Amino acid sequence: MGDSALSAILKIAVAGAAGRMGQAVAATLRAQGMEPVALFDRPGAEAPGLVDVEQALGMADVVIDFTSAAASAELAARAALRGGPALVIGSTGFNPGQIDAVAAAAGKIAIVRAGNFSLGVNMLLGLVAQAARALAASDYDIEVFEAHHRRKVDAPSGTALMLGEAAARGRGVALDAVAKRARDGITGERTCGDIGFSVMRGGGIVGEHSVTFASDEEILTLSHSARDRGLFARGAVAAARWVAGRPAGEYDMVDVLGMPKQG
Ligand code: NAD
Repeated sequence: MGDSALSAILKIAVAGAAGRMGQAVAATLRAQGMEPVALFDRPGAEAPGLVDVEQALGMADVVIDFTSAAASAELAARAALRGGPALVIGSTGFNPGQIDAVAAAAGKIAIVRAGNFSLGVNMLLGLVAQAARALAASDYDIEVFEAHHRRKVDAPSGTALMLGEAAARGRGVALDAVAKRARDGITGERTCGDIGFSVMRGGGIVGEHSVTFASDEEILTLSHSARDRGLFARGAVAAARWVAGRPAGEYDMVDVLGMPKQG
Protein backbone atom coordinates (compact mmCIF):
# COMPACT_ATOMS: atom_id res chain seq x y z
CA MET A 1 0.00 0.00 0.00
CA GLY A 2 1.33 3.46 -0.88
CA ASP A 3 2.20 5.98 1.78
CA SER A 4 -0.69 8.28 0.94
CA ALA A 5 -3.23 5.45 1.03
CA LEU A 6 -1.85 4.44 4.45
CA SER A 7 -2.15 8.04 5.72
CA ALA A 8 -5.75 8.18 4.55
CA ILE A 9 -6.80 5.27 6.74
CA LEU A 10 -4.42 5.50 9.69
CA LYS A 11 -6.35 6.80 12.71
CA ILE A 12 -4.06 8.71 15.06
CA ALA A 13 -5.20 10.19 18.39
CA VAL A 14 -3.20 12.76 20.35
CA ALA A 15 -2.74 12.54 24.15
CA GLY A 16 -1.76 15.72 25.98
CA ALA A 17 -3.43 17.61 23.14
CA ALA A 18 -3.59 20.84 25.17
CA GLY A 19 0.18 20.80 25.78
CA ARG A 20 3.10 22.19 23.75
CA MET A 21 4.02 18.90 22.09
CA GLY A 22 0.41 17.75 21.72
CA GLN A 23 -0.39 20.90 19.76
CA ALA A 24 2.74 20.46 17.64
CA VAL A 25 1.75 16.84 16.87
CA ALA A 26 -1.80 17.82 15.85
CA ALA A 27 -0.40 20.58 13.61
CA THR A 28 2.07 18.15 12.02
CA LEU A 29 -0.65 15.59 11.34
CA ARG A 30 -2.81 18.24 9.68
CA ALA A 31 0.16 19.49 7.65
CA GLN A 32 0.56 15.91 6.40
CA GLY A 33 -3.13 15.70 5.46
CA MET A 34 -4.18 13.57 8.46
CA GLU A 35 -6.82 15.05 10.76
CA PRO A 36 -6.27 13.57 14.26
CA VAL A 37 -9.08 11.09 14.96
CA ALA A 38 -9.31 12.22 18.60
CA LEU A 39 -7.69 14.71 20.97
CA PHE A 40 -7.57 14.13 24.71
CA ASP A 41 -5.87 15.52 27.78
CA ARG A 42 -6.27 15.23 31.53
CA PRO A 43 -9.79 15.67 32.96
CA GLY A 44 -10.55 19.37 33.27
CA ALA A 45 -7.97 20.48 30.69
CA GLU A 46 -9.19 23.23 28.42
CA ALA A 47 -8.74 22.99 24.67
CA PRO A 48 -11.22 22.75 21.81
CA GLY A 49 -12.52 19.32 20.75
CA LEU A 50 -11.19 17.18 23.63
CA VAL A 51 -12.78 13.76 24.18
CA ASP A 52 -12.59 11.23 27.02
CA VAL A 53 -9.55 8.90 27.10
CA GLU A 54 -11.62 5.71 26.64
CA GLN A 55 -13.43 7.25 23.69
CA ALA A 56 -10.09 8.21 22.12
CA LEU A 57 -8.61 4.73 22.65
CA GLY A 58 -11.68 3.20 21.01
CA MET A 59 -11.27 5.38 17.90
CA ALA A 60 -7.53 5.17 17.25
CA ASP A 61 -5.07 2.77 15.61
CA VAL A 62 -2.20 4.65 17.26
CA VAL A 63 -2.02 7.23 20.08
CA ILE A 64 0.84 9.74 20.09
CA ASP A 65 1.44 10.60 23.73
CA PHE A 66 3.53 13.51 25.04
CA THR A 67 2.15 13.98 28.57
CA SER A 68 4.16 12.89 31.63
CA ALA A 69 5.84 9.65 32.68
CA ALA A 70 3.07 8.87 35.17
CA ALA A 71 0.32 9.57 32.64
CA SER A 72 2.07 7.52 29.93
CA ALA A 73 2.59 4.51 32.22
CA GLU A 74 -1.12 4.63 33.08
CA LEU A 75 -2.14 5.04 29.43
CA ALA A 76 0.04 2.06 28.42
CA ALA A 77 -1.64 -0.17 31.03
CA ARG A 78 -5.08 1.02 29.93
CA ALA A 79 -4.36 0.41 26.22
CA ALA A 80 -2.85 -3.02 26.97
CA LEU A 81 -5.97 -4.02 28.90
CA ARG A 82 -8.07 -3.30 25.80
CA GLY A 83 -5.57 -4.96 23.41
CA GLY A 84 -4.83 -1.66 21.61
CA PRO A 85 -4.28 0.85 20.14
CA ALA A 86 -0.51 1.00 19.57
CA LEU A 87 1.29 3.83 21.36
CA VAL A 88 4.05 6.28 20.50
CA ILE A 89 5.31 7.61 23.82
CA GLY A 90 7.45 10.73 23.95
CA SER A 91 7.09 11.60 27.65
CA THR A 92 10.31 11.64 29.66
CA GLY A 93 11.34 11.35 33.33
CA PHE A 94 10.29 7.70 33.83
CA ASN A 95 11.14 6.02 37.15
CA PRO A 96 11.94 2.27 37.20
CA GLY A 97 8.35 1.32 38.17
CA GLN A 98 6.96 3.32 35.25
CA ILE A 99 9.50 1.77 32.86
CA ASP A 100 8.36 -1.68 34.05
CA ALA A 101 4.70 -0.72 33.54
CA VAL A 102 5.37 0.28 29.92
CA ALA A 103 7.41 -2.89 29.34
CA ALA A 104 4.56 -5.02 30.75
CA ALA A 105 2.06 -3.27 28.45
CA ALA A 106 4.38 -3.93 25.50
CA GLY A 107 3.73 -7.63 26.09
CA LYS A 108 0.21 -6.96 24.75
CA ILE A 109 0.52 -4.00 22.34
CA ALA A 110 3.15 -2.33 20.14
CA ILE A 111 4.80 0.67 21.79
CA VAL A 112 7.49 3.01 20.48
CA ARG A 113 9.04 4.89 23.40
CA ALA A 114 11.79 7.40 22.72
CA GLY A 115 13.26 10.18 24.82
CA ASN A 116 13.99 12.06 21.59
CA PHE A 117 12.33 11.74 18.18
CA SER A 118 14.82 13.77 16.13
CA LEU A 119 17.01 12.14 13.49
CA GLY A 120 19.95 14.33 14.54
CA VAL A 121 19.89 13.22 18.19
CA ASN A 122 19.64 9.59 17.21
CA MET A 123 22.72 10.10 14.96
CA LEU A 124 24.44 11.83 17.88
CA LEU A 125 23.84 8.81 20.15
CA GLY A 126 25.84 6.61 17.77
CA LEU A 127 28.64 9.18 17.47
CA VAL A 128 28.89 9.56 21.25
CA ALA A 129 29.15 5.79 21.78
CA GLN A 130 31.85 5.64 19.09
CA ALA A 131 33.88 8.49 20.63
CA ALA A 132 33.53 7.05 24.15
CA ARG A 133 34.79 3.69 22.87
CA ALA A 134 37.86 5.33 21.30
CA LEU A 135 38.77 7.91 23.97
CA ALA A 136 40.10 6.25 27.14
CA ALA A 137 38.59 7.17 30.51
CA SER A 138 42.12 7.66 31.89
CA ASP A 139 42.63 10.60 29.48
CA TYR A 140 39.19 11.96 28.56
CA ASP A 141 36.53 13.15 31.01
CA ILE A 142 32.94 12.97 29.71
CA GLU A 143 30.45 15.71 30.59
CA VAL A 144 26.87 15.93 29.31
CA PHE A 145 25.20 19.36 29.24
CA GLU A 146 21.56 20.15 28.47
CA ALA A 147 19.45 23.32 28.38
CA HIS A 148 15.64 23.56 28.13
CA HIS A 149 12.75 26.00 28.54
CA ARG A 150 11.63 27.17 31.96
CA ARG A 151 8.56 24.89 32.10
CA LYS A 152 10.36 21.57 31.79
CA VAL A 153 9.73 19.51 34.95
CA ASP A 154 12.35 16.71 34.80
CA ALA A 155 16.14 16.90 34.88
CA PRO A 156 18.47 15.81 33.42
CA SER A 157 16.42 15.56 30.22
CA GLY A 158 15.54 12.14 28.79
CA THR A 159 17.90 12.93 25.93
CA ALA A 160 20.79 13.83 28.25
CA LEU A 161 20.31 10.49 30.02
CA MET A 162 20.26 8.67 26.66
CA LEU A 163 23.52 10.43 25.72
CA GLY A 164 24.99 9.36 29.07
CA GLU A 165 23.83 5.78 28.41
CA ALA A 166 25.46 5.89 24.95
CA ALA A 167 28.76 7.13 26.43
CA ALA A 168 28.66 4.50 29.19
CA ARG A 169 27.89 1.78 26.64
CA GLY A 170 30.88 2.94 24.55
CA ARG A 171 33.05 2.55 27.63
CA GLY A 172 31.55 -0.81 28.56
CA VAL A 173 30.25 0.38 31.94
CA ALA A 174 26.81 0.84 33.50
CA LEU A 175 25.72 4.50 33.59
CA ASP A 176 24.38 4.12 37.14
CA ALA A 177 27.86 3.18 38.33
CA VAL A 178 29.56 6.30 36.89
CA ALA A 179 26.88 9.01 36.60
CA LYS A 180 27.52 12.21 38.58
CA ARG A 181 24.15 13.92 38.35
CA ALA A 182 24.73 16.87 40.67
CA ARG A 183 27.68 18.78 42.11
CA ASP A 184 27.46 21.33 44.88
CA GLY A 185 29.78 22.49 47.69
CA ILE A 186 33.13 20.83 48.47
CA THR A 187 32.79 17.95 46.04
CA GLY A 188 36.41 16.81 45.99
CA GLU A 189 38.28 16.17 42.78
CA ARG A 190 36.60 14.61 39.78
CA THR A 191 36.67 10.79 39.88
CA CYS A 192 38.28 9.20 36.82
CA GLY A 193 35.60 7.57 34.64
CA ASP A 194 32.69 9.66 35.95
CA ILE A 195 30.11 10.83 33.42
CA GLY A 196 28.96 14.23 34.66
CA PHE A 197 25.64 15.97 33.96
CA SER A 198 24.80 19.66 34.12
CA VAL A 199 21.51 21.36 33.45
CA MET A 200 20.26 24.84 32.57
CA ARG A 201 16.61 25.99 32.54
CA GLY A 202 15.38 29.23 31.04
CA GLY A 203 13.12 31.04 28.62
CA GLY A 204 11.82 29.15 25.62
CA ILE A 205 14.87 26.98 24.83
CA VAL A 206 13.55 24.02 22.79
CA GLY A 207 16.47 21.67 23.56
CA GLU A 208 20.28 21.98 23.59
CA HIS A 209 22.51 18.98 24.26
CA SER A 210 26.25 18.49 24.18
CA VAL A 211 28.69 15.79 25.17
CA THR A 212 32.23 16.95 25.89
CA PHE A 213 35.33 14.75 25.98
CA ALA A 214 37.96 16.80 27.85
CA SER A 215 41.61 15.76 28.12
CA ASP A 216 44.56 17.82 29.38
CA GLU A 217 45.40 18.69 25.76
CA GLU A 218 42.16 18.88 23.80
CA ILE A 219 38.40 19.20 24.09
CA LEU A 220 36.01 17.44 21.72
CA THR A 221 32.37 18.52 21.89
CA LEU A 222 29.54 16.78 20.04
CA SER A 223 26.35 18.80 20.15
CA HIS A 224 22.78 19.07 18.95
CA SER A 225 20.48 22.06 18.89
CA ALA A 226 16.72 21.70 18.38
CA ARG A 227 15.22 24.85 16.86
CA ASP A 228 11.53 23.92 16.65
CA ARG A 229 9.48 21.28 18.51
CA GLY A 230 7.88 20.43 15.15
CA LEU A 231 11.07 18.38 14.73
CA PHE A 232 9.98 15.98 17.52
CA ALA A 233 6.38 15.98 16.28
CA ARG A 234 7.45 14.92 12.77
CA GLY A 235 9.58 12.11 14.25
CA ALA A 236 6.66 10.95 16.40
CA VAL A 237 4.29 10.93 13.40
CA ALA A 238 6.88 8.88 11.44
CA ALA A 239 6.99 6.49 14.42
CA ALA A 240 3.16 6.25 14.40
CA ARG A 241 3.14 5.31 10.71
CA TRP A 242 5.88 2.74 11.39
CA VAL A 243 4.31 1.12 14.46
CA ALA A 244 0.77 0.73 13.08
CA GLY A 245 0.06 -2.96 12.66
CA ARG A 246 3.37 -4.14 14.21
CA PRO A 247 3.37 -7.05 16.65
CA ALA A 248 3.36 -6.35 20.39
CA GLY A 249 6.73 -5.24 21.70
CA GLU A 250 8.67 -2.19 22.89
CA TYR A 251 10.49 -0.34 20.12
CA ASP A 252 12.60 2.82 19.95
CA MET A 253 13.68 5.36 17.33
CA VAL A 254 16.62 3.19 16.32
CA ASP A 255 14.04 0.62 15.16
CA VAL A 256 11.89 3.26 13.45
CA LEU A 257 14.86 4.77 11.62
CA GLY A 258 16.26 1.35 10.72
CA MET A 259 19.64 2.23 12.26
CA PRO A 260 21.97 -0.56 13.35
CA LYS A 261 21.55 -1.42 17.07
CA GLN A 262 24.60 -0.39 19.12
CA GLY A 263 26.09 -3.32 21.01
P1 NAD B 1 3.21 20.27 28.43
O1 NAD B 1 3.15 20.45 29.91
O2 NAD B 1 3.11 21.49 27.55
O3 NAD B 1 2.05 19.26 27.95
C1 NAD B 1 1.72 18.08 28.63
C2 NAD B 1 0.21 17.87 28.46
O4 NAD B 1 -0.11 16.57 28.99
C3 NAD B 1 -0.62 18.91 29.25
O5 NAD B 1 -1.62 19.47 28.41
C4 NAD B 1 -1.24 18.07 30.38
O6 NAD B 1 -2.50 18.55 30.80
C5 NAD B 1 -1.33 16.71 29.68
N1 NAD B 1 -1.53 15.61 30.62
C6 NAD B 1 -0.98 15.44 31.85
N2 NAD B 1 -1.46 14.31 32.42
C7 NAD B 1 -2.33 13.77 31.53
C8 NAD B 1 -3.13 12.60 31.54
N3 NAD B 1 -3.16 11.78 32.62
N4 NAD B 1 -3.89 12.31 30.44
C9 NAD B 1 -3.88 13.13 29.37
N5 NAD B 1 -3.13 14.27 29.31
C10 NAD B 1 -2.38 14.58 30.37
O7 NAD B 1 4.57 19.48 28.15
P2 NAD B 1 5.34 19.30 26.74
O8 NAD B 1 6.41 20.31 26.63
O9 NAD B 1 4.34 19.14 25.64
O10 NAD B 1 6.10 17.91 27.04
C11 NAD B 1 5.37 16.73 27.35
C12 NAD B 1 6.36 15.59 27.59
O11 NAD B 1 7.07 15.29 26.38
C13 NAD B 1 7.43 15.89 28.64
O12 NAD B 1 7.70 14.70 29.38
C14 NAD B 1 8.64 16.28 27.80
O13 NAD B 1 9.87 16.07 28.46
C15 NAD B 1 8.47 15.33 26.63
N6 NAD B 1 9.15 15.71 25.37
C16 NAD B 1 9.71 14.68 24.67
C17 NAD B 1 10.29 14.92 23.43
C18 NAD B 1 10.82 13.75 22.64
O14 NAD B 1 11.36 13.93 21.52
N7 NAD B 1 10.66 12.51 23.15
C19 NAD B 1 10.33 16.21 22.92
C20 NAD B 1 9.75 17.25 23.67
C21 NAD B 1 9.14 16.98 24.89
